[in-house]
Amino acid sequence: MNAQDARGDQFDCCIVGGGMVGASLAAALGSAGITVLLVDRTDPGVMASADHDSRTTAIAHGSKMALDGIGAWAGMANDAAPILDIRISDGDAPLFLHFDHAAVSDAPMGYIVENYAIRRALYDRIGTLGTVTVRAPAAVSSNEADDGQVTVHLESGEEVNASLLVAADGAKSPLRDQAGIRCTRWAYKQSAIICNMIHERPHRGIAHERFLPSGPFAVLPLTDDGSGRHRSSIVWSEKEELAPGFLRLDDEAFSAQLAARFGPHYGEVAVAGNRAAYPLHLQHASSYIAPRFALVGDAAHVIHPIAGQGWNLGLRDVAALAEVVVDARRLGMDVGTETVLARFQRWRRFDNVLLAGMTDALTRLFSNDIAPVRAARDLGLGAVNNIRPLKRFFIRHAMGTVGELPRLVKGEAL
Ligand SMILES: Cc1cc2nc3c(=O)[nH]c(=O)nc-3n(C[C@H](O)[C@H](O)[C@H](O)COP(=O)(O)OP(=O)(O)OC[C@H]3O[C@@H](n4cnc5c(N)ncnc54)[C@H](O)[C@@H]3O)c2cc1C
Repeated sequence: MNAQDARGDQFDCCIVGGGMVGASLAAALGSAGITVLLVDRTDPGVMASADHDSRTTAIAHGSKMALDGIGAWAGMANDAAPILDIRISDGDAPLFLHFDHAAVSDAPMGYIVENYAIRRALYDRIGTLGTVTVRAPAAVSSNEADDGQVTVHLESGEEVNASLLVAADGAKSPLRDQAGIRCTRWAYKQSAIICNMIHERPHRGIAHERFLPSGPFAVLPLTDDGSGRHRSSIVWSEKEELAPGFLRLDDEAFSAQLAARFGPHYGEVAVAGNRAAYPLHLQHASSYIAPRFALVGDAAHVIHPIAGQGWNLGLRDVAALAEVVVDARRLGMDVGTETVLARFQRWRRFDNVLLAGMTDALTRLFSNDIAPVRAARDLGLGAVNNIRPLKRFFIRHAMGTVGELPRLVKGEAL
């Protein structure tokens, strides 16, 4: 029996959705002594398998600091491939933009880790915390807030009380809809085809992003497999209607499509493991808060994966919300009050809207083949490549170390 079971059904915080954002928040709050009930529809053992989610995540330097601070980085460090260099090219144009981590820091710009390894490390960490109770598989049927607390009804008939309810239940967030919070949303008419590949030559920590008319095509460095074979992860944005046809190709034909898109850099290549396609859209909630209620991660905002920043934004939500909650608790305040939640919302909206706008503009600028637009953007890429302060600015953005950073992201204790 852990701490909250001993106290009955009262928690400081109930988090609905134990994906990579909700589980990070549970680990952050639980590490700081806040009692948490974490609810997810899916069994954590299933979530931590490659068959459930074969994607990888680019973890920015600032997010790695936060994962370290909540005790989860050690569990994924062996599965993390450092990003030392990013090379961006536009179709077949010779100009390319080159970002080298050494321009700003000795530390890598970030790491690529498979999603299942991130989830496994988070749940391993949560399992060591007496402050976090996990109910999964389980789902919430309804909730109601009053002046003193929020009551959450699970589909199993169980009822729990908390000071704060957090929705980390993803882009389709049922809790957000129940709270009456609306979203702005538009579809990109692109799908991201994802898979891993094995290749002959080492990637040397270089991430490649090539802008093609149908969407950006990224090759991201992964750790070698158990047999020492070199691996990279592919995020291939393609016209939505063409994606199913590519997924149906046999391995040989699919591998040939990959090789045709990034040339001879990697030597012989072969697709490895699962392939999947994700329809892409932009979405932003009109508010992140309601009485005793907060949205984090994809429940609040969804962006195009062109810059690999969606989860990194979610982790900054986590670090900010954990900080305002912990600060309130240290002052003896109720952690679910409007004052606390308004501080979280003010802090996070600007960063999220800025990144959503930047990724949207990049996607529109590069996902076309109109000659004058192409000439202008190639000149732009070449110009940025020659302006060192501007390059350093972009590298710091990619590292997630720009703006008013929460303590965890700065590498400080919560
Ligand atoms: C192709 C692709 C590549 C990407 N690459 C990157 C990248 O490199 N870097 C990056 O930062 N971001 C990346 N992203 C974005 C990133 O994957 C998401 O931002 C992130 O996974 C969102 O996590 P989440 O926990 O908020 O939501 P989700 O992963 O959707 O988790 C929501 C959870 O809530 C649970 N749930 C839902 N409803 C209920 C309910 N009623 N009751 C109980 N549980 C419920 C679900 O079971 C699920 O576990 C990428 C996205 C795509 C599509």
